[in-house]
Amino acid sequence: MKEPGKGPALLRQYNEKHVLSFLRQQRISSRLDISRALSLSKNTISLIIDDFIAGGLVAEIGVAQSSSSGRPKIHIALQPDKMKAAGIMVERQHLHWAVYNYFSELLEEKTLIIDTADPRKVVSEIAGLCGWMHRRYPELIGIGVGFPGIIDPQSGYMHVSSHLGWQQVDILAALRHSAPLPLGVMNIVKAAALVSRQHESAAPVNEPTFYLRIAEGIGGTLITGQGVYYGGSWTAGEVGHLNVASDGPVCTCGQRGCLESLIGLSAINAQLNRLQPGLQWAHRSQAPDLVDNVIARAGELLGKALSQIIHLVNPKTLLIDCAYNLSPLFTEQVLTVARRHTLPFAYSHTHIRFLSHSYDPALGLALAMIQRHEHIEL
Ligand SMILES: [Zn+2]
Repeated sequence: MKEPGKGPALLRQYNEKHVLSFLRQQRISSRLDISRALSLSKNTISLIIDDFIAGGLVAEIGVAQSSSSGRPKIHIALQPDKMKAAGIMVERQHLHWAVYNYFSELLEEKTLIIDTADPRKVVSEIAGLCGWMHRRYPELIGIGVGFPGIIDPQSGYMHVSSHLGWQQVDILAALRHSAPLPLGVMNIVKAAALVSRQHESAAPVNEPTFYLRIAEGIGGTLITGQGVYYGGSWTAGEVGHLNVASDGPVCTCGQRGCLESLIGLSAINAQLNRLQPGLQWAHRSQAPDLVDNVIARAGELLGKALSQIIHLVNPKTLLIDCAYNLSPLFTEQVLTVARRHTLPFAYSHTHIRFLSHSYDPALGLALAMIQRHEHIEL
């Protein structure tokens, strides 16, 4: 048990949040099990749970006879619809939002086509959306707002987004008065990486995991037991700008041969369109041979990038979140080239996983707000 540094009220609040977090992960428990798991006295837990029950946050759901002590054990369950969280994400020319309950179960979502050229216009649309969401879902405990780009999540300030063509936008300051609840601003890939922690089977908790997302843009992040690693200026994991072909095309960042400019979804569609006008990844069944050639080359380039990532950060698990995972030729090329370019010891100790379903950054943004809600500094 933590010692009360700043008074009993704060300690009580800390313990409440700790119990809340435990119940979110366990869903069903008992006062005794919580007291054992968190090393807090049975009395402390009982007072907290009684308050939660009075507030409708927790319900007693039945009695089980405990065989060891002979005393009955009352099962309690967190009521996930009493607290909700939302995520709003922006990518080039579109906005996607989603609302979840406290167990991260989807309640409502929508994707809109918007003009993302003017940051002030987009941020003002988001402000309107936050206000509307707060009225529609009074149980919201926070809204996470995400963008591609270099963002300081503490201040909610975007330094630059080459993908959107934005620079120096004080996003949180512009949103602050849109709704009377906590708002957070972060990078969408770093938010999506949090979802991997939600699925224990995808990546074991506390082991260093590198999450790599290939969509319109490409980004990645290292996530450890301490959470997302941001680096010295929030750019750790920006693997979309790893140089993988010095004679490659010019990237949105102005450099040549960046991974994103070669295998991001726009880049792949542009290559397919050159081979056969109108051909897109989404319509790949129309010309499978042409698509195979392009996607095999994309796999080679990603394999090269993975070897750089493995050497640099040595993750235990590398999660690839990418639509091309559907192509066996792609995944095979990635592994072949990554193996060829990586120290055998490092390669053989890295678990490379191709996700079959993409993580929704909106879910990660909502989850970040739930984690923030459960966090309290002592
Ligand atoms: Zn670049």
